Amino acid sequence: MGWAGNRTPGRMTAAWRNHERRWKMNRYVYAVISRRSRGVSIGLNLNPDKICNFNCIYCQVNRKIPPAIQKVNLGKLTGELDLILQAEKDGSLYDDPPFNALTPAERGVRDIAFSGDGEPTTHRNFDEIIAACAEVKRRHGLDDVKMVLITNASRFHRPHVQRGLEILDRNQGEIWAKLDAGTEDYFRLVDRSPIPLSRVLDNITQAARIRPLVIQSLWMRIRGEPPPREEILAFCRRLNEITAAGSSLSLIQVYTVARPPAENYVTPLADEEVDAIADVVRRETGLPAAAFYGAGA
Ligand code: SF4
Repeated sequence: MGWAGNRTPGRMTAAWRNHERRWKMNRYVYAVISRRSRGVSIGLNLNPDKICNFNCIYCQVNRKIPPAIQKVNLGKLTGELDLILQAEKDGSLYDDPPFNALTPAERGVRDIAFSGDGEPTTHRNFDEIIAACAEVKRRHGLDDVKMVLITNASRFHRPHVQRGLEILDRNQGEIWAKLDAGTEDYFRLVDRSPIPLSRVLDNITQAARIRPLVIQSLWMRIRGEPPPREEILAFCRRLNEITAAGSSLSLIQVYTVARPPAENYVTPLADEEVDAIADVVRRETGLPAAAFYGAGA
């Protein structure tokens, strides 16, 4: 599990807590030091309008501050991606904090991640955006660099999203799909979406038949209470149903709140509690699980 399963090296703690989604004057493209990808992750915010079809109680997007911009301009987005990859290549990215905390061995782009302030697949031209970014990556000779889609999996059934996923498949794509619950009730409590859990589960099952998926699962205290054991077991049953349907899950990421959540009654689990959930997942499903700790780590 490397960095993920161990306590954070002190030198790096402040660096990867700096998750500001800004780099210079860029609107859409930023860089962070990512625990999960073990180095520099280039992030693309496809939702500067902060619109999402989920309303997770733990969401870190501050929707009280109105968005500075609404729409994605594809030309600007690819221009910004080009600029940041160039800065990484010529070393100027490492002139400033937090990247100057990285040793030479830790430098390098680990992945290009589509996430941002909402659900990236809600874009009407999602496939076009993925294709254009894959082309910039190719131009920079980064064929081996992963393209990670961080998604709530609610729109995989749409044809243009499926086309986007296929483009990812051809460009070292990896899909990290959110699944925070094992029951409809808990899903409604945590993710607060009008979309039913069954839609998300169907979408994950279908997409994971074509390529292995990573599952991201966030667990937290809600009004001081840790997740019910029965809910964690129900979550494991859902994972087992997905794999029993012939679908492939490569990793279950178990994590907790690391930055200020949308609701103040949400607080992080202790490291030991995150570890315990990851252990249950391993035991009940036989799948690999990695633990990522909260702000106290
Ligand atoms: S799906 Fe992601 S962006 Fe949307 S509300 Fe949940 S955590 Fe926030």
